[in-house]
Amino acid sequence: MDLVSRLVQLLGPERVSTVESVLDSHGRDEGYPESRRPLVVVFAENVEHVQATLAAAREHRTPVIPYGAGSSLEGALVPLGPAVSLDLSRMDRVLEVRPEDFLATVEPGVTHGALNRAVRHHGLFFPVDPGADASLGGMAATNASGTTTVRYGGMRHNVLALQVVLADGQVLELGRPVRKTSSGYDLKDLFIGSEGTLGVITRLTVRLHPLPAHVHAARAFFPSVEAASEAAYEIMATGLPVARLELVDDLSMRVVNAFLDRRDPEQPALFLEFHSSTEAALRAETEAVLDVCRAHGAGLVQAAQTPEERSALWEARHKVYWAATHAYPGRAFLTTDVAVPLSKLPKLVAFAHRLLQETGLVGGIVGHVGDGNFHVFVATPPDQYPRAEEYSERLVRRALEVGGTATGEHGVGLRKRKFLAEEHGPALPWMRRIKALLDPDGLLNPGKGPA
Ligand SMILES: Cc1cc2nc3c(=O)[nH]c(=O)nc-3n(C[C@H](O)[C@H](O)[C@H](O)COP(=O)(O)OP(=O)(O)OC[C@H]3O[C@@H](n4cnc5c(N)ncnc54)[C@H](O)[C@@H]3O)c2cc1C
Repeated sequence: MDLVSRLVQLLGPERVSTVESVLDSHGRDEGYPESRRPLVVVFAENVEHVQATLAAAREHRTPVIPYGAGSSLEGALVPLGPAVSLDLSRMDRVLEVRPEDFLATVEPGVTHGALNRAVRHHGLFFPVDPGADASLGGMAATNASGTTTVRYGGMRHNVLALQVVLADGQVLELGRPVRKTSSGYDLKDLFIGSEGTLGVITRLTVRLHPLPAHVHAARAFFPSVEAASEAAYEIMATGLPVARLELVDDLSMRVVNAFLDRRDPEQPALFLEFHSSTEAALRAETEAVLDVCRAHGAGLVQAAQTPEERSALWEARHKVYWAATHAYPGRAFLTTDVAVPLSKLPKLVAFAHRLLQETGLVGGIVGHVGDGNFHVFVATPPDQYPRAEEYSERLVRRALEVGGTATGEHGVGLRKRKFLAEEHGPALPWMRRIKALLDPDGLLNPGKGPA
């Protein structure tokens, strides 16, 4: 019996698709230029469906690629040959909320937006907020982070326990619903950031945080991206408790103005947010941070007073990528992602900016600069895409030279594999041994990340 018939036999026809548009949407992501259709897409609704899919794939020696919301950027979902795409989006139940313990247990297809809607009435929120409405399973698999990571941490910090299904069908429970543990090797963290290469995440227990009683947001506009990055570094160095600290460069401000029909200054800006339990503390902290900005040349500082003004401010930050694709229709986009030790951030941002000017490429810089992490999106005519690849490579090499990483949060996928040996040295073969131990037949998302 062929693989598709076997999957239909095990899972039922309503969970197995070979419809062309479904195959197309599962053989690509939001940032990698190449795509390839998987053989078949399976929509799992429970752990048994995941096990059955893996059993059929083992029988037919065909790789399986877990699929969350498809918003990743580095080619991690693109099959290298015949493969099953295992879509987890129907596993979308919030299984339990324990407000007294600040915890929720969810299936992997729950998105961060859906989780936040489910817990808000308890006065709680889940902080990790990548710009796309990604699934919690995909976010764990890429070790995602976002605008509030500077205060609340990324996925590693906020995932306490995982259920995973290994390639041989075994189900493991990793981690405990506790804030800390010294018990044994941390296998839970091994699966976070593993990009579907070690196992399929079928349940997550995550930390929730009390919604802050008082929130202020502000923007400061600078004469250059260098000045804005230096201010960001000094804000971090003074230990001021920012909840969000985001860089948006002038080109990004310009495309967002056009996209949202706004008239904001088209200058490099820091977008800031502050959370506190008292209004007085909040005012003092906000003023101290804005003073740092002024000392670095920020001429205009705007506070967002009301919740509406605050959401308008963050809408601008979150829509940069879509605004850019709108401003440059027909162009191919590459979004690269690096993170460096904090003290190196201003110089690396300056390097990224200079490189855009020297190469004459159209691109914008945005970033979670409080974490030393930023992105450059480059928009080229499709036939000039190799120039964007070259730009990304030069930026990554410079980040590695100063002690940084080839990817702060987007993952390795296919695009960043070439930097792994340089970044990890003799640790890379050990990563491959771990892969071989957990997945000896190379069934799970082969050829991605270090696998
Ligand atoms: C506009 C935009 C803004 C973005 N901003 C950010 C940002 O601020 N921060 C950030 O970190 N990322 C960001 N991203 C990238 C993307 O949203 C993240 O990488 C996200 O974590 C991917 O989640 P997903 O559910 O879409 O996963 P997918 O893209 O479906 O999959 C990503 C990887 O995870 C694996 N995977 C998916 N589900 C599972 C599972 N249940 N078990 C095991 N493996 C699984 C896949 O095999 C693949 O390797 C952005 C993307 C876009 C388009």
